Amino acid sequence: MFQAFLIKYAEIAVKGKNRYVFEDALVKQITRSLKDVDGSFNVYKTQGRIHVDVKSEDYDYDEVVGALTKVFGISAICPVVVLEDNGFDELAVDVVNYLDEIYPDKNKTFKVNARRARKNYPMQSMEINMALGEKILDAYPEMKVDVHKPEIWVNVEIRDRIYLYSIEIPGAHGMPIGTGGKAMLLLSGGIDSPVAGYMIAKRGVSLEAVYFHAPPYTSERAKQKVVDLAKIVSVYAGDIKLHVINFTEIQKYIYDECPKDELTIIMRRYMMRIAQLIAEESKCLGLVTGESIGQVASQTMQSLLCTNDVCTIPVYRPLIAFDKLDIIGISEKIGAYETSILPFEDCCTIWVAEHPVTKPNVGIIRKHETSLSEKIDEMVERALTTREIIEITK
Ligand code: ATP
Ligand code: MG
Repeated sequence: MFQAFLIKYAEIAVKGKNRYVFEDALVKQITRSLKDVDGSFNVYKTQGRIHVDVKSEDYDYDEVVGALTKVFGISAICPVVVLEDNGFDELAVDVVNYLDEIYPDKNKTFKVNARRARKNYPMQSMEINMALGEKILDAYPEMKVDVHKPEIWVNVEIRDRIYLYSIEIPGAHGMPIGTGGKAMLLLSGGIDSPVAGYMIAKRGVSLEAVYFHAPPYTSERAKQKVVDLAKIVSVYAGDIKLHVINFTEIQKYIYDECPKDELTIIMRRYMMRIAQLIAEESKCLGLVTGESIGQVASQTMQSLLCTNDVCTIPVYRPLIAFDKLDIIGISEKIGAYETSILPFEDCCTIWVAEHPVTKPNVGIIRKHETSLSEKIDEMVERALTTREIIEITK
């Protein structure tokens, strides 16, 4: 029954001359989100709003709404009935029938909100409001007018054709992807990092990602799991370039040369160093991790200080103060959880100490790292040049 969707966005985000940047990014992301949806759609902007017109005869309403509710930057989605202009009487009949179809229970308050985008329509907006209101009350005496806080806004927009809408489906909010710069996500196969990526993306930040694996100790299936997680994040975050780094040689070398209880911290410092090198090369403005204070030994504040010590660009940790249960809640909401809990090995869990330090001292860690000498710099170089790049696109 709906031939178009009106997309609403938060006005606050589009003040001043950045407005077109915001709107163009939103049009682009909406178009992308509808790529896999059956049907043909026309996405465009007019004064202060964005429209999605359905060009095909047939489409799946739930699928379209499902796609649109995953686009950041949208505050609400309004399904629109598009009517031919055959005079006021026919419009009134259509509006009355529309209300009957959408609201089986008529015990509601309403307000008609007419807007003339086409000024040669023979009635003025106020006249339309009054006349339509009367027709509605005639048809449904249980309904009541409330001009201050109506339960139903009956919106009627007079353009070349007439747009009729009253339903508002809440959008994903946030900012459109592409309006907030780009960041490098350290993406593991766990629960946390996909959620961290999703949260940063919600602020309009586009992502690249880096995954460290340790073949043959970690399997092809473990890698595929990360690719699948990147695909899930990319539904919200847009296309993602995923860098897959072979970390085996570096991990083994750290294992051989450093105190066992400091393995994880030193390994994490090398992950951050490598991620930062790729970030700089890809013009990313920061790193993103799924760390949260106290979750594991490597995420105490002392450990985070040691990991952060090697970074010169900002590290964004959107989950830093989140409880695991809250993170799981978001993971389920975005459809990542089922994939995240698949039981594949992770490079971090292959060489771990029985009793890792929980309060590492950054001075001591730095000192112990010096025993790795230049040899490790060559390994880092090799890891970078032999990396595999996987483009996650639609
Ligand atoms: P996650 O659930 O995201 O795997 P975690 O609770 O297992 O996190 P750690 O293993 O300590 O925590 O990792 C902390 C963060 O470091 C992760 O959230 C992720 O951003 C990054 N990270 C860990 N392992 C990898 C890896 N193999 N490749 C890329 N990033 C990683
Ligand atoms: Mg993990």
